[in-house]
Amino acid sequence: MIDAGAGEYLLHHPDRLAEMVRALAAEGVLVSVKIRAGVAGNDPKIARLAWEAGADLLHVDLMDAGYAKIRQIRNASPVMIIANNSMQSFDRVMEMFSHGADLVSLARHSDAQTLAGLDAAITRYAKEFGWYNAPKQLCRGGDVRALTFCCLPVKDCPLLPTLQKIGLSREEYVRLKREAVQGTSLQDGAYTCFGSLAWCCKVSSPCLLRDATLDQMKMSKKQYMEEKRRLSRAIMARVFPPRDNDDSG
Ligand code: SF4
Ligand code: SF4
Repeated sequence: MIDAGAGEYLLHHPDRLAEMVRALAAEGVLVSVKIRAGVAGNDPKIARLAWEAGADLLHVDLMDAGYAKIRQIRNASPVMIIANNSMQSFDRVMEMFSHGADLVSLARHSDAQTLAGLDAAITRYAKEFGWYNAPKQLCRGGDVRALTFCCLPVKDCPLLPTLQKIGLSREEYVRLKREAVQGTSLQDGAYTCFGSLAWCCKVSSPCLLRDATLDQMKMSKKQYMEEKRRLSRAIMARVFPPRDNDDSG
């Protein structure tokens, strides 16, 4: 495969990979790029390059790497990520989902019983919490999508270095979230820490103030998480502006 200029060869020749992805994307087909973590040297860079060239999916064979690899890739691009390898337990799958994976795939252990068990557990979770792959909070190791749960930038915490890394000033961050929640239920929440649910934490972080606000608004935790998901998408669209070849508007 390497001699033929395919497979692993492309991870060491990213320009050629980008060329191929661009050519496929230009044909209007869905493009999935499969990589094995740790081969290219800089996986986030490969992810970014593949996404910029027009890839729709990045299928990551994690080998021995853990969720930190998925987080690095998520922080480098908004491409849809499939986490692969040893995904046979719900805990392992949730680890991947809460650090940036959109989907998981199984090879070994992809027997009917394991697949049905995972499917049932993920479906149950999604029914209860809505946003099945919500990130962990940023200060608990979450990826860039976790800005949706972040506070106003008033303290010394992982928010400020993250904003710096993605090139957003404090003012831009505040404006972005305020504008994104305008006219939505997240705009309300006068009795929460920062006067709006836009700055409120994930439902898994217990909080009487937020929960009382949600009760008052007759908003379920699932609906709250769906609103947070919408806010996260707006944030991601700002952090990763559409590619030149995107025609979805
Ligand atoms: S802004 Fe709040 S949620 Fe975000 S990292 Fe800081 S303390 Fe954590
Ligand atoms: S009110 Fe509760 S959920 Fe909202 S920011 Fe404060 S601690 Fe977090």
